[in-house]
Amino acid sequence: MLNEKMVRLGTSRSAIRELFEYGKRRAAIVGAENVFDFSLGNPSVPAPPSVNREAERLLREEDPVVLHGYTSAQGDAAVRAALADSLNRRFGTDFTGDSLYCTMGAAAALCCCFHALCCPGDEFVVIAPFFPEYKVFIEGAGGRMTVVPADIETFQIDFEALERAINAHTKGVVVNSPNNPCGAVYSQATVRRLADLLETKSAELGRPIYLISDEPYREIVYDGVEVPYLTKYYKNTLVCYSYSKALSIPGERIGYVAVPPAMEDWQRVYAAVAGAGRALGYVNASSLFQRVAAACAEDTAELAVYAENRRLLLEGLRAMGFFCVEPGGTFYLFPRALEPDAVAFSERAKAHDLLLVPGDGFGCPGHVRISYCVPTERVRRALPVFEKLAREYR
Ligand code: PLP
Repeated sequence: MLNEKMVRLGTSRSAIRELFEYGKRRAAIVGAENVFDFSLGNPSVPAPPSVNREAERLLREEDPVVLHGYTSAQGDAAVRAALADSLNRRFGTDFTGDSLYCTMGAAAALCCCFHALCCPGDEFVVIAPFFPEYKVFIEGAGGRMTVVPADIETFQIDFEALERAINAHTKGVVVNSPNNPCGAVYSQATVRRLADLLETKSAELGRPIYLISDEPYREIVYDGVEVPYLTKYYKNTLVCYSYSKALSIPGERIGYVAVPPAMEDWQRVYAAVAGAGRALGYVNASSLFQRVAAACAEDTAELAVYAENRRLLLEGLRAMGFFCVEPGGTFYLFPRALEPDAVAFSERAKAHDLLLVPGDGFGCPGHVRISYCVPTERVRRALPVFEKLAREYR
């Protein structure tokens, strides 16, 4: 007997992966240059030179037995202290090394948080559009996911819907700003209102509702947009960070959970995060990349390519009649499909070898995600193809 739920998870492919694999098959037939694949969120620019420089230096100069050896389960103490200092300097927070738990990226950070917090019967609220893996992570921790429908005019939060979604079973609310798939960055007004609502609801319930801030795109923002640091607005916030996107090192699997010392009972919450890491077998994130992250925490890959792709697509698509909320960050655009059924729209785009992910899997039908972490040349060459598609709807 196997765990059939796991067999299902292991054999079903996400809509994004399906589309990506389809693109590879089409490329073999029509040539890679004729497939306009905007499916995957894999950074398309190299890591900044500091990453390789530091990795090479460590490999050259450090004792290999130490460098490649186990660190503390929660990450090397000096690494965590350096990461905490960097956060405090940039965001005016008061983390210590002891409030950080190093993980294999944001995925492991989120899983640690859900496992740390979730008791039988607990629910976690997510706000559409949302990263589809949240459902897998939450249910994997034994919780239930509740979805707040998107505010499709702004992609900020529909607070009336959020208030309705919170109930006696709510253990936490998950936010992701800058957002995958829509690029929205929650404004300070949104964050303040969110904090007020969670304070009120926590007081009503007589226990904290935790805010889980999934923020692997924090540094990928445009036009000077500010991303409020949530622990400063709501003390019961767990921050899940990853270096995958900003440093362009998704395959190296490095990130952390930050538990602010102002959180109620923070040491027990931190212990539960560490316990979850232990129960999941996630202890000791990559020793080498812990060290690299500590040295490069304030660097980013060259983001100018994304900025140019965003400009070209936003201007181009709007001129063709697409409705698209201006994304403050990430490398995703989430325009409204030109017909109510985004799956049908995506199929029609596919006939032009234009690969767009339907919003349905992100809890936001009627939209498609365009991952523009691709060479700018592909964006330029795709614009006439978008135009051809749009013409079919005129
Ligand atoms: N959260 C969001 C919103 C993401 O888009 C991703 C990756 O695409 C992750 C989490 C997982 O990232 P990581 O590579 O750090 O595990």
